[in-house]
Amino acid sequence: MSTITLDTVRKVYAGDVEAVKGVSIDIADGEFIVLVGPSGCGKSTLLRMIAGLEDITTGEISIGDRVVNKVDPADRDIAMVFQNYALYPHMSVYNNLAYGLKNRNMDKAEIDRRVKEAARILEIGDYLDRKPRALSGGQRQRVAMGRAIVREPAAFLFDEPLSNLDAKLRVQMRVEIKRLQKGLGTTSVYVTHDQLEAMTLADRLVVLNGGNIEQIGAPIDVYDKP
Ligand code: ADP
Ligand code: ADP
Repeated sequence: MSTITLDTVRKVYAGDVEAVKGVSIDIADGEFIVLVGPSGCGKSTLLRMIAGLEDITTGEISIGDRVVNKVDPADRDIAMVFQNYALYPHMSVYNNLAYGLKNRNMDKAEIDRRVKEAARILEIGDYLDRKPRALSGGQRQRVAMGRAIVREPAAFLFDEPLSNLDAKLRVQMRVEIKRLQKGLGTTSVYVTHDQLEAMTLADRLVVLNGGNIEQIGAPIDVYDKP
């Protein structure tokens, strides 16, 4: 668990596109922040800068008390969950969950403990020997969540993780993600263009528009305004 601090973060892409125009947010330990706003407002750019997948033009991002501007994505102690799952098709569910930990030369018993704990929380313990193609969409999304959970990161970053699921499953997974995040208490930043999803998940909503924060607050305060 950790705080995330954005201090006057700007992103200018090649061609003078100012995608993010000096955004400051203090995210509390364990808080669930949802970034919303129209297409092109800078949501993914902001998330990708926190993840380290995009350089920051000016400003500062800290995770805990460490400035991470120049820290590699793999060393930021964060885990990302994407919409396209990014599972390895030829590996069992068990090895999909274990893969990132094996790459870190983690002790086998510790890997096994983490994989089984994540599988238990996500209720995919019966599918550990299956390949991803033998799973339903919801099960695959749980495995994708599991790959984030086993890292026991300081923060989760979600990039529209439910947008490929059908409507019914989206509602179900949204409830599960909320329950999981509360249970684990892991600081989370979640990008979506779905207003209902945003309202259900967020402790605080950040509404971006044209690279600026237009509103920030509890969902009820943000969406109650005319
Ligand atoms: P959102 O996620 O809210 O849809 P983005 O962060 O993807 O917004 O994009 C913000 C702005 O930055 C848009 O104007 C987009 O066209 C521009 N942009 C995004 N990625 C790049 C890039 N790699 N190069 C140039 N411009 C980009
Ligand atoms: P690798 O050969 O890449 O190290 P293995 O597939 O041989 O990985 O598994 C390593 C360990 O992980 C095994 O000793 C076993 O304890 C555990 N393991 C692997 N698959 C499963 C599974 N489906 N369910 C429970 N434990 C598993």
